[in-house]
Amino acid sequence: PERGSVVLEARKVTRRFGGLVANNEMDLQLRAGEILGLIGPNGAGKSTMFNQLSGVDTPTSGQVLLCGADMRGKGSRAFASRGLSRTFQHVRLLPQMSVLENVAIGAHLRGHAGVLPAAWRLDRKDEGALLAEAARQLERVGLGDCMHLPAGSLALGQQRILEIARALAADPCVLLLDEPAAGLRLQEKQALGDLLRKLRAEGLAVLLVEHDMDFVMGLVDRLVVMEFGTRIAAGLPEEVQNDPAVLEAYLGG
Ligand code: ADP
Ligand code: MG
Repeated sequence: PERGSVVLEARKVTRRFGGLVANNEMDLQLRAGEILGLIGPNGAGKSTMFNQLSGVDTPTSGQVLLCGADMRGKGSRAFASRGLSRTFQHVRLLPQMSVLENVAIGAHLRGHAGVLPAAWRLDRKDEGALLAEAARQLERVGLGDCMHLPAGSLALGQQRILEIARALAADPCVLLLDEPAAGLRLQEKQALGDLLRKLRAEGLAVLLVEHDMDFVMGLVDRLVVMEFGTRIAAGLPEEVQNDPAVLEAYLGG
């Protein structure tokens, strides 16, 4: 997609769980070559929104468009095959397998929700191509030197970057990240931020769900703020930061 074009869009997305409205007519646009932050207090509906945007869950009403296509009734595999990759809030790696194998399996299973070692059945030709592609993604994210180490031996910050490499192996144009900075040390956050800036420069569209305000403010191009399932503010970080409704949501409650 051309830089600046809308690649992922929510139009009046509503998700109800019984009487609870977890997402209430949410509008959101993500463009190629930008990092968009989705923030809000606990329970605001961020993860629910993330699930609507990645096909893991289906809106009660409203529309999700991926590269212009209406994704109504489509599951996460359809989102993946149309160029959307996501990471999960908790690290999902195979700790005994090598860093390289973890990425190769991700590429092999692109579009599948989980990682099943049993599905790791390939002939030699396919395996060679997958490993080469995995190695390329690891160089891209700066983990080339760790390729042959067990994934479980990496520090948490490197494991998060490994998960991003695995998401990238599906060659997405849209990358959705659920709290990638959670639990990371300052240096690790900086490394993660540098990587996301690099991916943005390459033209990827990145949506970041995050609690860590400092990390978000220094990184994203635009922000959408949620509270009680509703979008309460949107705009540049410096605008949103001083918005009375946002201050109230974070400090007033
Ligand atoms: P956030 O990620 O911003 O913390 P969530 O999207 O996880 O918020 O949750 C928003 C609201 O929806 C919460 O009140 C939560 O309890 C509720 N919720 C989320 N998923 C479900 C579900 N599968 N069934 C019932 N309620 C849910
Ligand atoms: Mg959440």
